[in-house]
Amino acid sequence: MIKHNRLSSEQYAENFSDIHPPYENSTAAKVDANRCLFCYDAPCMKSCPTSIDVPKFIKQIATENIKGSAKTIFSSNIMGAGCSKVCPVEKLCEGACVYNLLEEEPIPIAKLQRYSTEMAMKENWQLFQRKNSTGKKVAIVGAGPAGLSCAHVLSREGIDVTIYEKESKGGGLMTYGIAAYKVTPQFCEDEVNYITSIGGIEIKYNQELGNDISLAELKRNYDAVYLGIGVGVARQLEIPGEKLEGVVDAIEFIYDIRSKGYASVPVGDKVAVIGMGMTAIDAATQAKRLGAKEVTMLYRRTEAEMPCTKHELDIAMLDGCEVIWLAAPQKIKGSAGKVKQLVCSKMKLGEPDASGRRSPVDTGETFTLDVDMIIKAAGQTPYEKLIKKLNIQHSKFKITIENCATNIRGVFAGGDAVNGGKEVVDAVQAGKDGAAAILKFLKLC
Ligand code: SF4
Repeated sequence: MIKHNRLSSEQYAENFSDIHPPYENSTAAKVDANRCLFCYDAPCMKSCPTSIDVPKFIKQIATENIKGSAKTIFSSNIMGAGCSKVCPVEKLCEGACVYNLLEEEPIPIAKLQRYSTEMAMKENWQLFQRKNSTGKKVAIVGAGPAGLSCAHVLSREGIDVTIYEKESKGGGLMTYGIAAYKVTPQFCEDEVNYITSIGGIEIKYNQELGNDISLAELKRNYDAVYLGIGVGVARQLEIPGEKLEGVVDAIEFIYDIRSKGYASVPVGDKVAVIGMGMTAIDAATQAKRLGAKEVTMLYRRTEAEMPCTKHELDIAMLDGCEVIWLAAPQKIKGSAGKVKQLVCSKMKLGEPDASGRRSPVDTGETFTLDVDMIIKAAGQTPYEKLIKKLNIQHSKFKITIENCATNIRGVFAGGDAVNGGKEVVDAVQAGKDGAAAILKFLKLC
C-alpha cells in the first residue's frame, strides 16, 4: 500500500543523515593532506571538469592555510562545497589519484575539499572582490549550477546579473534533484547565499521563462542572456498502464522529498525503480529510507553497462535494494486504477549500439513482479516545447563550442540544457565557459 508518514521523526533523521561525515578535527584533515604526493601534472586535477588545482589546495591544508585552500577551490569551482558532496569522485579525481596504481587508498580529495570550503562558508570568508561596475547587465535563466557559476564569474568582472528562477529556491538539481542524505536542503540554501554574497547578483524567484518572462523581454532589457535551464521532463516508458496511480517520475519523487519533507511523501510497500543512473539510485535508496519494505531496481543491460558508479550501486545494495539485470518493463497491470504488477521482458546483450555499449535484445521471455509503486528513472528529455516557443532551432540547445552562443545573437546557453544532463561539476564548468563567451561578446576581455 502506498502511504506517507511511515517512520518516526527520529528514524527519518537517522535515515537521511549525512552519508559522508566531515573530519572531526583539523589534525585528521592534516594527516590525510600530508599523504598527498603533490604530483607534478597531477592526474586528479586533469580529471576534474573544472580543473581544480588539487595538489595546491591539499598543500594549503597541510600548511594550515585553509583560507588559501578554499580560494584555490572556489577560483575553479564556486560550487566546490556542494561538489565535494555530490561528485562521483570515484570516476573523477579520486579515481585518477596515483595511489590507485599503488593499490592503496586514494587521497580523500572530496573530504579535504569539503573541509576547507565548508569552513569558508561557515566563517563567511569573502575571497573574491568585484571589479568596478562596467555598467553592463546580464540576465541568466536558471539558478542551478550553470547559472550560478556563470553569474559569479560575471559579477567578479563588474557586471550586474539578474537570475530568473522558476522555483522558490536556487541551486537547481543540487537543491531539488539529489538525495537528501548527500546534501541537505539547508546546505543548498547556504551555498546559494554564499555564492551571491559577492554582490551584484539578484535572484528573482518563481519566474518561469515562457510564462512569467519572455526571451524578447530579456533581450530588450539586458546586454546578454544566458540560458541555464537544465534538462526537462522525465522520459516516459511508453508502455501500457503508465498512467495508473502509483507510477511516478523519479525526479518528481526526489523533488517532493526535498521540498515537502520526508513524512509527507508517500511510498509503497513494494517499489520497482526503472533505470540505473544516479537519479534511479537516489530514488531507490530514498524510497527504502522512507520506509518501503522492498525496492527492486530494473535495468535492461548488465552491471558492466550501468550509468551509475559502482560506489552508487553499493549504496543501494547496502540499503537493501535488489537489482534485476537484463530486464525491461513491458506493461503495468493494475486494478481499481492502482498499480498491482509490473510485467518485464527478459533481455540479453546484442551488438554495441551508437553509445558503444552492447544493446539489450528481447529474448521473448517475461516475468512478473508484484508491486504497488513504480518509479521511472529512464532519463530526461529536453524542454522541447519551451525551446520551440523561444524560436531556438533545436530540440535541445545546440551551441557553438567556441562561444557557447545559440542561433540568437546575444543569447548564450550551457549546462544540462545543452549537454542533455551530466554532473553538477560539468554544469559549473559550462557556466564558466558561458561567462567567458559573454565577456568576449561584451568586449570586456
Ligand atoms: Fe595527491 Fe593523488 Fe592528486 Fe597525486 S594524484 S596530487 S597523490 S591527490
